[in-house]
Amino acid sequence: MAVWETRVHLCPHSTLTCAARLSPADFHSPFLACSSGQFVASTRKLHVEPKSSPAGAPERLPFSKVTDEDLAYFRKILPGRTITDPDLVESSNVDWLKTVKGSSEVLLRPQTTEEVSQILRYCYNRNLAVNPQGGNTGLVGGSVPVYDEIILSTSLMNNILTFDNISGILTCQAGCVLENLSLYLEERDYIMPLDLGAKGSCQIGGNVATNAGGLRLLRYGSLHGTVLGLEVVLADGRVLDCLATLRKDNTGYDLKQLFIGSEGTLGVITAVSILCPRKPKSTNVVFLGCETFEELLKTFQLCRGMLGEILSAFEFLDSECMRLLNTHLKLPNPISDCPFYIVIETSGSDPDHDSQKLDNFLEEAIASTFVTDGTVATEESKIKALWSMRERVTEALTHDGFTYKYDISLPVERIYQLVTDMRQHLGDRAKSVVGYGHVGDGNLHLNITSPAKDPALLAAIEPFVYEWTASCQGSISAEHGLGLKKRNYIYYSKPSQAVALMGNIKAMLDPKGILNPYKTLPDNLK
Ligand SMILES: Cc1cc2nc3c(=O)[nH]c(=O)nc-3n(C[C@H](O)[C@H](O)[C@H](O)COP(=O)(O)OP(=O)(O)OC[C@H]3O[C@@H](n4cnc5c(N)ncnc54)[C@H](O)[C@@H]3O)c2cc1C
Repeated sequence: MAVWETRVHLCPHSTLTCAARLSPADFHSPFLACSSGQFVASTRKLHVEPKSSPAGAPERLPFSKVTDEDLAYFRKILPGRTITDPDLVESSNVDWLKTVKGSSEVLLRPQTTEEVSQILRYCYNRNLAVNPQGGNTGLVGGSVPVYDEIILSTSLMNNILTFDNISGILTCQAGCVLENLSLYLEERDYIMPLDLGAKGSCQIGGNVATNAGGLRLLRYGSLHGTVLGLEVVLADGRVLDCLATLRKDNTGYDLKQLFIGSEGTLGVITAVSILCPRKPKSTNVVFLGCETFEELLKTFQLCRGMLGEILSAFEFLDSECMRLLNTHLKLPNPISDCPFYIVIETSGSDPDHDSQKLDNFLEEAIASTFVTDGTVATEESKIKALWSMRERVTEALTHDGFTYKYDISLPVERIYQLVTDMRQHLGDRAKSVVGYGHVGDGNLHLNITSPAKDPALLAAIEPFVYEWTASCQGSISAEHGLGLKKRNYIYYSKPSQAVALMGNIKAMLDPKGILNPYKTLPDNLK
């Protein structure tokens, strides 16, 4: 990614100089924020001079560097949990996709909220930058440092605090791994309201920080609804205790919502309370094939009408995904070859009622020729096998080459058009162009691979993909967040006034900008 040194004349109050890679939307935006906090009309064209920098980030901001005295302090408060061995810090410097690498020399592993508070109070006073990290499965380069930020890992904050068997409300520390929470709840006849392919590593704090969507959003809604309370440590070390366990609470502003999806830029989430649904008594998974995307959409409509309240997921993958699953993971296609595949899950409380409804739906779908082939699973092992066809596409892609990933929200009837148009646009410049995702949520995962990192290919993809999305009033990040990679494209999906207000909130909660710098907000706000 190119990085640009930008001198922006905004208003009579300010002349900002920032190292920024501005999106084309900046040039069109009628409003920009000035340092006085006002929005000002900008009629001037911005003057942009190219300047190179590593990691596609602005130049390192003037944070302090870690000294021996700093390490001595950390070792005093975190004995044995202040990691400086380069071999041990290495894996926390590299993201899951292996596309972003920081150069941090310090990994801190607190166990309690008080320890997180002590760390942040100290870092704030010393002007040391901090990178909060959960399971490090994030896909937008937000979870690893860009330069030498201290990595604050929540991995040892993995205690379940309370579970109320009547209300289904769970409170736990932020570092609990999602799958462990699921297993704990299943023993008690409950489930987590979210599920995703990275469940074995991602942590609930990371899920909340990214507002992860996943495979159950269609049924249980987003974390903005299911998270009931949060405990957060602010940049200066203050502990914000909003760890309510109430379903209804309209006393003033709902501050926890600010931290859901804030990607570690506003505070470190240390504990979460979340409303969990009862474990369904019957679960069925169907894997179907369709000849066209139009037929897939008709199947979705039919499915919503006929399965109603028992529909819990409606996912899709295209034949290119199937090819990658076959080639790289040796997963055989459970049905005959088709251009599109659907994974439908039902979950309910009455096995007979659910299977009757499912049978009626399948009969109708086959009779109307929307689907051409399919298989049904009711046993746990077969359900898992069918789900892995959808869940392991991300993994299969990593074996195909360097992957350019896009996570787009669109009106549901448009979601596959972007894949088709991108294929046509790129011709044979890409190795694979694949589409899969959460049809039920209007969320496309568009992935493009090449044998190696390819700046020319990237230049062909971007801003094409963002302009295409903006032309449909879509979102350039449906569920993965913006992190390092997408931060400067925010203007394609949010008006300048909203972005400027986000900058004000960041400045209020983290005036020195020590929390996850270079992430989420565009460079012209830093
Ligand atoms: C195979 C695979 C499948 C995936 N499927 C989905 C999917 O279906 N839906 C989806 O939404 N995402 C998906 N993801 C992306 C990723 O798993 C999610 O974003 C997940 O929520 C990240 O959690 P984590 O604990 O790994 O966080 P990390 O990757 O460690 O961090 C992600 C961001 O959150 C911040 N953060 C982490 N913990 C905290 C904390 N305690 N306090 C404050 N900030 C924090 C980090 O600074 C970073 O900005 C998938 C990833 C993989 C690898």
